[in-house]
Amino acid sequence: MEKIQEVNRGPRETIKDRQRIVVKIGSSSLQHEQTGDLDYIRLEKLVRELCDIRNQGKDVILVTSGAIAAGKKAVGIREITESTKVRQMAVKQACAAVGQARLMMVYQKIFGEYNQVAAQILMTKNTIVDDLNRFNAHNTFTQLLQMGVIPIVNENDTVATYEIEIGDNDTLSAIVAALVEADLLILLSDIDGLYTDDPRRNPQASFIPQVNELTEELLAMGKGSTGSDVGTGGMNTKLQAARIATSSGVDMVIANSRDIGVLHRILDGKEEGTLFVARRDESFDLPDFVSHLHRQ
Ligand code: GLU
Repeated sequence: MEKIQEVNRGPRETIKDRQRIVVKIGSSSLQHEQTGDLDYIRLEKLVRELCDIRNQGKDVILVTSGAIAAGKKAVGIREITESTKVRQMAVKQACAAVGQARLMMVYQKIFGEYNQVAAQILMTKNTIVDDLNRFNAHNTFTQLLQMGVIPIVNENDTVATYEIEIGDNDTLSAIVAALVEADLLILLSDIDGLYTDDPRRNPQASFIPQVNELTEELLAMGKGSTGSDVGTGGMNTKLQAARIATSSGVDMVIANSRDIGVLHRILDGKEEGTLFVARRDESFDLPDFVSHLHRQ
């Protein structure tokens, strides 16, 4: 009887049963477009939604961007104008060091208001590629979740340079979802989901509510898309995230962060955003995949 019901429930319905959920929010969703300052109302709503999911007994992990943006704002830099790549990297890293601490301060404060304990985990490529590092990271996440803590994850931008950087938080969040054996990843972005073309440039572009298989054609569609100018993730990085997540057995949804309430609607099985249905690929090797990131 139960089996028949499971067959009859579509992939949206079964989202209600997901137990371990990773939510990623991008820089552009966390700040006011006009000033670059943090959008406290949106942050507050995000934290409230996450605490409510935790109160339902589910495991929650937040992957958040915004460190570099918050740091730039704090030290009064609009653009990084240094002439050499080395200098640009140094400024970016310094801004991340300032901004990550500020970001955590705000998160800790709001999570504290809901009596929820949060932790910080900063990662680089080596966290996954190195066997001992990966083992330790996995243990730490597992222990935190067992203790009912919400891990808050970002790339360790202060030390991440091209040879150890993952590069964007869409990819990072999918890596985290695979590492912790999550069963759902939600990418909150400034777009509604996947379209056949960039809807900002092509009014004919149509919305794709569900992707059952990531074909080469689909992956090619994301190439060259840029997204907003604040974070680093365009559609390309989102499709790469979908590849990592679905191959690792994790469903993924891209949804618009305009209304943070979208989080509980997704978890209620509502048709929001684009759902990429998990298709575990036994040949997918996470450390190997990560070791080849950015090596063209
Ligand atoms: N890790 C970067 C930051 O916190 C953002 C990367 C991204 O937006 O994808 O500023």
